[in-house]
Amino acid sequence: MKNSLIPIKDEKDIPELYRNTPIGSLFQRHNLGTPMGSYEKAELLILMCMDSRQELRLPRDFAFVVRNGGARLGGNSFSVSFAIACGGIQYIAVIGHSDCKMVDLESRKEEFIRGLTKHGGWKKSDAEEYFLNLHPFFGKNDAVKSVISEADTIRLKYPATVVAPLFYSLEDDHLYLVRE
Ligand SMILES: [Zn+2]
Repeated sequence: MKNSLIPIKDEKDIPELYRNTPIGSLFQRHNLGTPMGSYEKAELLILMCMDSRQELRLPRDFAFVVRNGGARLGGNSFSVSFAIACGGIQYIAVIGHSDCKMVDLESRKEEFIRGLTKHGGWKKSDAEEYFLNLHPFFGKNDAVKSVISEADTIRLKYPATVVAPLFYSLEDDHLYLVRE
């Protein structure tokens, strides 16, 4: 996995394609400790997993942030479309992360059904059906490959945007660029 992640530890590590763009600014603010500065209008959309162990260092008015299980466009596409259509967003960062619980989701089937019954007050049969119907859309085999495929999906759907696949490492709280 390490080979597929490009560390950004210095300005010069930011590829030309993303330099002087909101993607480059994201790396500067989050990884390089560049002062937050002030923004008047968000120019970046971030799609990331809801996992609570990730904390981005972002200035106010810098980015729209859409989160769900596994950073999937599916289920969030109206929010993403809204940010593009009405917010004029041209740059999108899709951020996967290490130890994502959506990897190998199928193995958590019993836990999910038990939990939704106990904590959500659902009938067991409804919880079973729900998991069976929806886990294929959120589960994944590989956290890095999934970011690339999600980025490709977004590029196809919004061809005028620039989409960067990134990865949040829970080990060092840094953002990496995913090698495509
Ligand atoms: Zn996750």
